[in-house]
Amino acid sequence: MQNTPTSASLSKSQFSYRAGLSSGQPIGRLMAQALAYPNLVSLAAGFVDNATLPCEAVERVVTRLANQPELLRKSLQYASTAGNDEFRRALVDWNYRDWPDAKPNAERVILTAGSNQFLHLLAEALLDPGDIVIAASPTYFVFLGMLRGVGARAIGVQADDDGMCMDALSETLDRIVASGDAKRLKAIYTVTDFDNPGGSTLTLQRRQRLIEMVQRWRREHGPLLIFSDNAYQLLRFDGEALPPLPEISADAQDFVIELGTFSKSFSPGIRVGWGVVPDSLVPQLLEIKSNIDFGSPHFSQVIMLETLRSGEFDRHLPVILEGYRAKRNAMLDALERHMSGLPGVHWREPKGGLYVWLTLPEHIDASDTGLLWQHATQNGVLYVPGGYCFPPEGVPAQANTIRLSYGVQSCQGVSEGILRISDAIRQAANAGIGD
Ligand code: PMP
Repeated sequence: MQNTPTSASLSKSQFSYRAGLSSGQPIGRLMAQALAYPNLVSLAAGFVDNATLPCEAVERVVTRLANQPELLRKSLQYASTAGNDEFRRALVDWNYRDWPDAKPNAERVILTAGSNQFLHLLAEALLDPGDIVIAASPTYFVFLGMLRGVGARAIGVQADDDGMCMDALSETLDRIVASGDAKRLKAIYTVTDFDNPGGSTLTLQRRQRLIEMVQRWRREHGPLLIFSDNAYQLLRFDGEALPPLPEISADAQDFVIELGTFSKSFSPGIRVGWGVVPDSLVPQLLEIKSNIDFGSPHFSQVIMLETLRSGEFDRHLPVILEGYRAKRNAMLDALERHMSGLPGVHWREPKGGLYVWLTLPEHIDASDTGLLWQHATQNGVLYVPGGYCFPPEGVPAQANTIRLSYGVQSCQGVSEGILRISDAIRQAANAGIGD
């Protein structure tokens, strides 16, 4: 009798090798677990604040657009693969108004449906199986999934309150050379401001050292890029803005790829992101983008063009910042209130962005198969297990870490969530003692 293929083996055989590499993304599992527990306070999702979504501003922008029939008609048609030209020009004028040395020409800007799509484009265009990307430990776990999806290696470098440690980066580079893999190193990925998940911001001195190290590498070993992900750059609550990497050195435009997005600072529903790439990479990236969609949604781009042009964005940003500052403060206050007495528990205090990085005593396993997760979900609170955010090589994953987001909850929800997590930590710690 012939073996009858099971539905699992049948469907598996239908998928590509690349699809197999992409399986097991934590985000889907986390969402499913969240749905299994109603009345849950989620400090996990990177969603933005519902209360300050720009409903009135978008209503005014859409009305403005409706009153410009020519522009409206144009916005309902395809644009070019790189996106609406007028918007690309307006975007560089606006985004680099305080950083004239970093200002690129608009031909170097490619508009995408959010910056995640741009990261994906970079992975597709620049990475072969076995190629290496260096990132902070911890780093943006969705990007780690993309690297896995193209068979690339991710090597993690020690990070602290000031972002990726440059001495540790230098040692990692030396190790890559010593292992004979110098030609496989393609890029260093960094979220310069208010990192997801670490909440840290790369200091000016570290930015300068990073640029110098890459310049040196390029002289000695050949091409190396920096993927500078600026997703949270505009969400600064305290202190002065730091220069973007291309502002630091005139030649940085040859090797820094900057990524930006309006998702966090305006609306992820509109989903407009962009990348600024060295001249030499533009044509090939556009070829690949042509295969994907030959241009991201034009209507969204025109909405954002009008949002910038009308001043709606600049008026709305302070409203968002005020909301997030209050929620960041609510989270830090609640942590102080409920967790300062817990031995071995500490957290970073972000000056912007959406995340607080929490470290627990080493014996507490915060992964979603651990005891803490069980207690937390039973108490009705959800977090992102920090272990997901560690690149598979380099710094070993720390299962005793947690990413907390104050993005979507109210101040009250944030405080309640922290109370529930602190209870779960006590329960898990007590259970551990009895083991
Ligand atoms: N980079 C980082 C570091 C992020 O946290 C996110 C969103 N969570 C993105 C990029 C992508 O955002 P979007 O695609 O909505 O622009």
